[in-house]
Amino acid sequence: MIGRTALVLGGGGFIGGHLTKRLKREGFWVRAVDLKFNPFAETPADDFLIGDLRDPYMCRHCVDRRFDEVYQLAADMGGAGYLFTGEHDAEVLHNSATINLNVLDVCHKRNVKRIFYSSSACIYPERNQLDPDNPNCAEESAYPAAPDSEYGWEKLFSERLYLAYARNFAIEARIARFHNVFGPEGAWRGGREKAPAAVCRKVAEAPDGGEIEIWGDGAQTRSFLYVDECLEGVTRLMRSDFAGPVNIGSQEMVSINQLAALVANIAGKRISIRHIKGPLGVRGRNSDNRLVRSRLGWAPERPLREGLEKTYAWIEAQLASSSANAGRD
Ligand code: NAD
Repeated sequence: MIGRTALVLGGGGFIGGHLTKRLKREGFWVRAVDLKFNPFAETPADDFLIGDLRDPYMCRHCVDRRFDEVYQLAADMGGAGYLFTGEHDAEVLHNSATINLNVLDVCHKRNVKRIFYSSSACIYPERNQLDPDNPNCAEESAYPAAPDSEYGWEKLFSERLYLAYARNFAIEARIARFHNVFGPEGAWRGGREKAPAAVCRKVAEAPDGGEIEIWGDGAQTRSFLYVDECLEGVTRLMRSDFAGPVNIGSQEMVSINQLAALVANIAGKRISIRHIKGPLGVRGRNSDNRLVRSRLGWAPERPLREGLEKTYAWIEAQLASSSANAGRD
């Protein structure tokens, strides 16, 4: 007999892959859906459908029953090198909006009661993130809206879409704004990787006393959230009576130069930084956890260093195995 059931859309991705594992550990029967399998880890999903959620017929096929929990994580996604150059704007808007329009329509028609949506800190207005030391990312600061990327605009549109379905139909939305989630089993090379993975890879590739490249002057600030903490927030929000949108992020803000120094320290290497031109995003960003603390009685607490140590070890192992494989070719 099947007990509690969950659907993880984007289950072949970084956060979706970790979420699938967590839900299996919690005893759920899990269906995951993605364009691809996770390239880094075997999925424990009971059912894994390879398919394109831009296709409404595929969506109907995926949501062929009522699930206890539906998590919508699928998006056309990447790091700054993918999202902030402007080269992929039309694809990002079209692909992610189409996925959300299709998913909500089918969930409504199939009588899904509750759906989680992964929004992003990229929805916050650029004007509040110009000072690297004092960014404002309080939830209510989202309006008047002025995200600095089309990725952020799509997330804001989709937040509104989920809230509108919740308002007009009997479907409950739970919306989180993630702030830079990182950890093992995520993109670490190829252009879609984000800052922590990119810095770990560069440091792992550099010799002791070597040099790595950082985009911009490295004084831009961010906070980074380890994936296990992110999932604790996601599942707490999903099972709470609070709809959000709410930040799920760390408040341990660092500059990119400090991030690089921390990774070099973890690696035990002396590394110098060369600053080069590159896509940057906003000047400063940090999670504001007052609302999540007050509504869920929880906020992530583990130090950045702890998550970086695990991520660095994983990326170092990936590099070692890819160079061993190259040696065999
Ligand atoms: P990811 O790219 O690893 O996962 C997204 C998955 O969606 C990918 O596996 C991709 O193949 C899948 N996908 C894309 N288009 C699809 C389609 N048409 N049909 C089916 N599957 C499709 O990204 P992630 O880091 O795991 O992020 C998960 C969610 O969280 C995304 O919505 C992302 O925008 C959001 N988010 C992530 C972060 C972060 O720092 N990782 C920050 C803010 C928001």
